[in-house]
Amino acid sequence: MEIITAVRGFKDILPPETDKWRYIEGKAHDVFSAFGFREIRIPILEKTELFRRGIGESTDIVEKEMYTFTDRGEESLTLRPEATASVIRAYIEHALHAAEPVTKLYAIGPMFRRERPQKGRYRQFNQIDVEILGPDDPHIDAELLVMVIHFLRSVGLSSLNLEINSLGCEKCRPGFREAIVSFLRGREEELCGDCRRRLSTNPLRIFDCKVEPCREVMTQAPRMTDFVCEDCRRHFETLQQNLEQFQIAYQVNPKMVRGLDYYTRTTFEVTTEHLGAQNAVLGGGRYDHLVRDLGGPDISGIGFAIGLERMASLIPEPDAKTSPGPLLFIAALGDKALQEAFLLCNRLRLKGILAETDYTGRSLKSQMKRADKLNTAFTVILGEKELVEKRALLRNMRQSTQEEIGLDDIEETILKLAR
Ligand code: ATP
Ligand code: MG
Repeated sequence: MEIITAVRGFKDILPPETDKWRYIEGKAHDVFSAFGFREIRIPILEKTELFRRGIGESTDIVEKEMYTFTDRGEESLTLRPEATASVIRAYIEHALHAAEPVTKLYAIGPMFRRERPQKGRYRQFNQIDVEILGPDDPHIDAELLVMVIHFLRSVGLSSLNLEINSLGCEKCRPGFREAIVSFLRGREEELCGDCRRRLSTNPLRIFDCKVEPCREVMTQAPRMTDFVCEDCRRHFETLQQNLEQFQIAYQVNPKMVRGLDYYTRTTFEVTTEHLGAQNAVLGGGRYDHLVRDLGGPDISGIGFAIGLERMASLIPEPDAKTSPGPLLFIAALGDKALQEAFLLCNRLRLKGILAETDYTGRSLKSQMKRADKLNTAFTVILGEKELVEKRALLRNMRQSTQEEIGLDDIEETILKLAR
């Protein structure tokens, strides 16, 4: 019969790859909690309106990448393409701002974007999303970046590039926007169709275009750094000074605008050469008005999202030979032995001992082969004759030695081996 495969762009994460994911997630829980973050779990499905308003109508995500459907003809719903909008919705809905002047939250889970699937780009992918809501003090920006660099290093990632930029604020960004529009006036022909449209809807987004001629044109474009107001300049400088306090290397990239509309002031990305074309491990920035725009109080925020697939691909495969196998394999020969193996194996597991057995009744030779493959430290051999005589054979797989042990206190004997 024809097999049913997963949907294009939706991928299974199999063991041992899942070990890496748990390792990364475990580190995230540890590092983030040391910095005062708490975990939030938000739904995968939201009202479409949340993303339209939150991410912005003229972004790639909202224009063409969302999985949106009408729920039984009643309401337009969307599989979340990112987590920030949902976190802010929850923050407002549950009035978390009333409890603390600063709220630090993180969420881990799948996001959905209908992009062209390729290496490092999927339609369901996973992010670790981190947000700080509160004052717009640049020390908070610095603290977040200190934490993220520490996190990446703690899972063993090095040779990463941190790029930062300031996108200015409501006061100074309009001037920059105008400068971009007048710079591009008369050069429309050189731009791709998307960017020609962006010229009237969202000209800053043209910096983000991956089409070569557009990138070429934009190398000459005005830079935000020349337009920032005094407040934004000071904010950006304080951030940089504080990164230097922690010897964090960074580059200012005035062309980095990021793909979402809500960013103001600080934006940042971490990239690496080891990922090929999809080289961004994480991206984020400050959003001074998102909470207000989603109907909440006038509270600022800053956050980032790490791509888990890309991050996991940077961590070396765990070596199968060095990963410890079960403590014990129980080879059982005959029905009675099999029952005995079942009891012993599961009693040991209940005590936290990693034990394995085989219910197939295969030959001793093939069971020993399996024990080898599992890389087990010890094997117990249970045969019909041994059962009658209330004994078993215990084989030390590393030393290739074996001894007879009594069946009555076999559990005790094995537990001693574990100590
Ligand atoms: P890119 O420029 O690679 O499209 P982005 O700017 O769309 O990234 P964000 O929306 O900021 O990315 O998401 C943060 C991170 O999530 C990215 O740096 C990347 O690691 C990961 N990511 C984004 N889209 C995908 C995807 N389709 N598949 C896998 N990972 C993704
Ligand atoms: Mg993208």
